[in-house]
Amino acid sequence: MAKTAIVTGGSSGIGRALAVELLRLGVDVTIADIADADSTARELGCAGARLDVTDAAAVEDLVRGVKADRGRLDFLFNNAGIVVAGRTDELTLDHWNRMIDVNLRGVVHGVHAAYPIMVEQGYGYIVNTASLAGLIPAPLMLPYTTTKHAVVGLTLALRVEAAAHGVKVSAICPGFVDTPLLDHANPGLPQTEIGRLAKTIGARVQKRLYPPDAVARDVIRGMERGRALIVMPSFARRAWSLVR
Ligand code: NAD
Repeated sequence: MAKTAIVTGGSSGIGRALAVELLRLGVDVTIADIADADSTARELGCAGARLDVTDAAAVEDLVRGVKADRGRLDFLFNNAGIVVAGRTDELTLDHWNRMIDVNLRGVVHGVHAAYPIMVEQGYGYIVNTASLAGLIPAPLMLPYTTTKHAVVGLTLALRVEAAAHGVKVSAICPGFVDTPLLDHANPGLPQTEIGRLAKTIGARVQKRLYPPDAVARDVIRGMERGRALIVMPSFARRAWSLVR
């Protein structure tokens, strides 16, 4: 029986690259995304489901469905995420709540649905996509920094508890990656240049934006080595080592 994986936010960027890498390794992948799930699944030749990670019941249904249909649940990649970038004095509570709902509650919903199944199985691996902004502050991205720090904390605490049950937990902490994420970083904010600026700064400090397929390969390597925090590329590892 092939190992199974669910990848949220699997239609684009890092999630899509993770799905491609997992499929290459023979894993039975289900991508779950609020957009383009069916068309991406068709392209990649895997299962796909339209999913809004802010909907706890829908996340639960999907996770239970994969376990029931395939008989096992090996990997859950809680990867779906959004960015709102802008000056903190210009953010509305709606901006904050949306960030918390997708980037934090989305991960909580995944953990809440999958972890008990994995404990019962005695195996499983939950990989949460945080960010370098989960380790060090990202100015002009306060809600993003807040939610990603929370994801890192959740991951490290759960990892300790989960080890006793044979379940592994890691967080991915990428620097700037070449995906559409930052292109729609500031819906409704007057500071419309900030997303573009972040991308330009990212490319400058890292020399180039890191490609998502390189992230995916680093993630698989980091999982094989049992890393708690999978930090990439080298710029991000250096930045993290300077502050920890
Ligand atoms: P992306 O925009 O290419 O992909 C994000 C995917 O998540 C999209 O397919 C989107 O439709 C999906 N999504 C958004 N809201 C959703 C919801 N409510 N339910 C389900 N799916 C939803 O961006 P990406 O860069 O690949 O981002 C993936 C993850 O990587 C995010 O958690 C992001 O915070 C993190 N990250 C990205 C970077 C970067 O520089 N791109 C750096 C560090 C961390």
